[in-house]
Amino acid sequence: MAYFSTNIQEFKAVNTKHEWQKSLSNLITDPQELLKILELEPALLPKAKLAAKQFPLIVPRTFVDRMEKGNPNDPLLRQILPLDMELHEHADFSTDPLQELNVNPLPGLLHKYHGRVLITLTSACAVHCRYCFRRNFPYEENNPGKQGWSVWFDYIKHNHDISEVILSGGDPLLMNDKSLRLFTDELAQISHVKRLRLHTRVPVVLPERVTDEFLTWLNQLTFATVIVIHMNHPREMSDAVKSALLKLKQKKITLLNQTVLLKGVNDRADILCELSETLFAAGVLPYYLHVLDKVKGTAHFDLPDATAITLHAEMINALPGYLVPKLVREEAGKAAKTLLS
Ligand SMILES: *Cc1c(COP(=O)(O)O)cnc(C)c1O
Ligand code: SF4
Repeated sequence: MAYFSTNIQEFKAVNTKHEWQKSLSNLITDPQELLKILELEPALLPKAKLAAKQFPLIVPRTFVDRMEKGNPNDPLLRQILPLDMELHEHADFSTDPLQELNVNPLPGLLHKYHGRVLITLTSACAVHCRYCFRRNFPYEENNPGKQGWSVWFDYIKHNHDISEVILSGGDPLLMNDKSLRLFTDELAQISHVKRLRLHTRVPVVLPERVTDEFLTWLNQLTFATVIVIHMNHPREMSDAVKSALLKLKQKKITLLNQTVLLKGVNDRADILCELSETLFAAGVLPYYLHVLDKVKGTAHFDLPDATAITLHAEMINALPGYLVPKLVREEAGKAAKTLLS
């Protein structure tokens, strides 16, 4: 079995010993099937197929279960359904707005901010979010595979200021536990690394991934561990997701959430406030509310900064301070994410 997979087809081919691997081998990838399950107009199909050619449809079945049938504007559906609007060209929207390739000293490793490196262990995700800032990122060329890990470890060893390693994506939780353990065993040899952070949407879209084996791995880590999940709308929470998050919480993990502000999905203060409350009830604190990165194919999700700032102000007025995420933008060449308000 491969330690390292660069695309979802490989995950589909790997063993399905665990329930979560079975779910991965059974993702919805055909727009026709998605429309049928949700009892939506077949007229949406040709456009969905066209847009899916650029960035394929991928969505787990239990995530689709949380969508409302017959509603083409369902906020969960909007995040994953390929639309022809993605194919429209917009002058301000480019393929690499963050110029990440400039802060990419090694394949799969981004060193943009002081003290932290971001590593892409795999380029695969369990879901394809249409607004994703990495939809055009050249992952395939930018992934060394397991044989490339030693180059990352050398880089981290020689940069003594790196105290935190962030595993991001793709989604690191698509790696199996054995591979994760191999990685962290090696990383634990580097004494200046104090914290491990996982950026993952998997607990939200594929909560069965939080297995006892995975929890055991977390428990045995010698790093302080932070998990940043990604939830955009309160309806993404289900009993299974809540139970997975509360299990993580019991392992003394710091649990945070990041949200992307998306037109037509969560651009209302009442929805954002409910999201914060829902997260808190599952042991998670809101961390970042990102404005959209201007990535080609995502212009229909964009909102003016003034709207974002107004929504954020409404959250501040309605919630305790610890339930208000920081409103930020990612900018090329800056030392940190930029606060908008
Ligand atoms: C967002 C990001 C981080 C983490 O930044 P924090 O503000 O610490 O959450 C690190 N590296 C890169 C490249 C990022 O985009
Ligand atoms: S899970 Fe994260 S990295 Fe993957 S497509 Fe969605 S937003 Fe992008």
